[in-house]
Amino acid sequence: MIVAERKAISDILQMIEGAGRVLVVGCGTCVTVCLAGGEKEVAVCASLLRLQNQGEDRDLTVAEATIERQCEWEFARELDELVPDCDAIVSLACGAGVQTLAAQFEDTPVFPGLNTQFIGIPEEQGVWTEHCLACGECVLDKTGGICPIARCAKTILNGPCGGSQDGKCEINPETDCAWQLIFDRLKRLGRLHMLEEIEPPKNWSHSSDGGPRKVKREDMIL
Ligand code: SF4
Ligand code: SF4
Repeated sequence: MIVAERKAISDILQMIEGAGRVLVVGCGTCVTVCLAGGEKEVAVCASLLRLQNQGEDRDLTVAEATIERQCEWEFARELDELVPDCDAIVSLACGAGVQTLAAQFEDTPVFPGLNTQFIGIPEEQGVWTEHCLACGECVLDKTGGICPIARCAKTILNGPCGGSQDGKCEINPETDCAWQLIFDRLKRLGRLHMLEEIEPPKNWSHSSDGGPRKVKREDMIL
């Protein structure tokens, strides 16, 4: 899932300065699960905007809507009737959701209400951790299902580095060393021999360095 955090209300208020009618839009998928941009968070954000606005004595009306996925046109279109009545949209979705609304509603400014953080998982109540950098060429088959790209601070493919101590990363002693986790996992699976092979330098041409990526499935194109 994509993990995000809400921006400070003061920052959002600054973005929508001058707008009289604002629509706060949530997304019912990843950001609902990470408690940043679901229906409840939309209600909280809208209420905070109204409250802070009262203090500043601005003439601001805040409407609310939550759609299933902001990053898909068919759901974004559900806002077609609401958007003409507003001067600005605050999107509580990931960056893809914000951009989908911006493309869908060309004449209305769309502002990000969240800071998109990473692809991760819920670790425990209220804690999410990064697990994938979307490198474009997954190596989890070689690393026991534990990602050295996202979870090793040095992104090394032949670890651990010399700084791994007591199973913790030298960069942050509160963080598990990804390569210790990989070692333990492969040992448990009886696959430690996997570590005897030197992994060659990664082909980063599949990652985002070459500009925006595109997946094209010829078999699915109509
Ligand atoms: S190897 Fe790449 S695709 Fe696989 S989990 Fe790690 S970052 Fe994501
Ligand atoms: S200590 Fe482990 S996780 Fe940290 S940088 Fe070294 S190999 Fe990576």
